[in-house]
Amino acid sequence: MSNAAYCFDALMDITARPKTVFVRGEGSWLWDDTGKRYLDFIQGWAVNCLGHSPPSVAEAIATQAKTLITASPAYFNAASLELATALVENSAFDQVFFANSGAEANEGAIKLARKYGALYKNGAFEIITFEGGFHGRTLATMSASGKKAFEPLFEPKVKGFAKARLNDIASVRELISKNTVAVMLEPIQGEAGVWPTTDQFLRELRELTQAHGLLLIFDEIQTGMGRTGKLFHYEHTGITPDIMTLGKGIGGGAPLAALLATEEAACFEHGDQGGTFNGNSLMCAAGLAVLEQVSKPEFLRSVVDSGHLLERELQRLSTRHGLGEVRGRGLLLALDLKLPIGPALVAQALDKGLLLNSPQPDALRFMPALNVSREEIAQMIDQIDVMLTKAGAARRVA
Ligand SMILES: *Cc1c(COP(=O)(O)O)cnc(C)c1O
Repeated sequence: MSNAAYCFDALMDITARPKTVFVRGEGSWLWDDTGKRYLDFIQGWAVNCLGHSPPSVAEAIATQAKTLITASPAYFNAASLELATALVENSAFDQVFFANSGAEANEGAIKLARKYGALYKNGAFEIITFEGGFHGRTLATMSASGKKAFEPLFEPKVKGFAKARLNDIASVRELISKNTVAVMLEPIQGEAGVWPTTDQFLRELRELTQAHGLLLIFDEIQTGMGRTGKLFHYEHTGITPDIMTLGKGIGGGAPLAALLATEEAACFEHGDQGGTFNGNSLMCAAGLAVLEQVSKPEFLRSVVDSGHLLERELQRLSTRHGLGEVRGRGLLLALDLKLPIGPALVAQALDKGLLLNSPQPDALRFMPALNVSREEIAQMIDQIDVMLTKAGAARRVA
């Protein structure tokens, strides 16, 4: 136990954390300071899309660090121009603003929509968001989120977010008023427990927003960068939003996020938006290394294959142990446990050297590296199988 060397109290106590201290990572594996190894199906919260410390990203960061870390947001730099160009070439959008976190990218999307309302829609400012949605932890993005636990916090909230129900187009239509400027949602609600929208609902939303001259904003911070088997989730649906935000996977573990918009929606004027570290060369170099790999058709095909394998294996577990449905797409999946045993399973798994996430007590969420191997999936499934068998036996005895 080398934990004794750490002063845990030096960090603000913002969440319940086990006293495990991680010191090294490689691919799907993490090591703590006692040398114990863990199979990681959380990956920094769906962040490390190429696994821990992928050589391509590590090298890009090291090379860029020795070349230029940051010039200044008042000047152009090569890495940010290259990454913006690559994102535009690989998507339906025309312009990019880089940010340092998902919440900041969403904050930018909210500001962009309000700017659009000020310029073109008589000052309309309201954005329709969704019950259960999660958009970040700044004051405006907490206000935009539909997370119940956020409701009593940090009042007064930022005004102007009406909440509709996911996959219920009538609930969106009812909220549209002369003050509405946009509709914003995650194509799959990740933090809420992996609740997918239907492609049909997204197409209806596009029709409805177009009919009312509203912007459609996709928060693809969790679903983007190959997570669902397409580079961006909207590609599954045949429609394109006006604004999209990216985060998590885009930096391959490095703090990078992006706000993308069509030419029509990209209406910021000088002075509206900025930030000291935004678009710095170091993080953009990481983003370039990630995009280069993740945008390859054969890479995306492998995500689809791994997603199908994981889905089949989870379904098999569900049948064997009498659990519920498997939800999600690609490598963003959840298993409905039908019983509130998620937190206990997560704790047992940690003990056995497996990192799992339970976004709600009756569900497990899986967000492995996009290049997770078949063997690693099989190993994870076997470990859960053993735990569920024990839990079932315990229930029968009780
Ligand atoms: C994680 C997440 C965010 C917030 O990103 P941060 O980098 O934590 O600020 C926003 N939206 C969605 C959909 C997310 O999954």
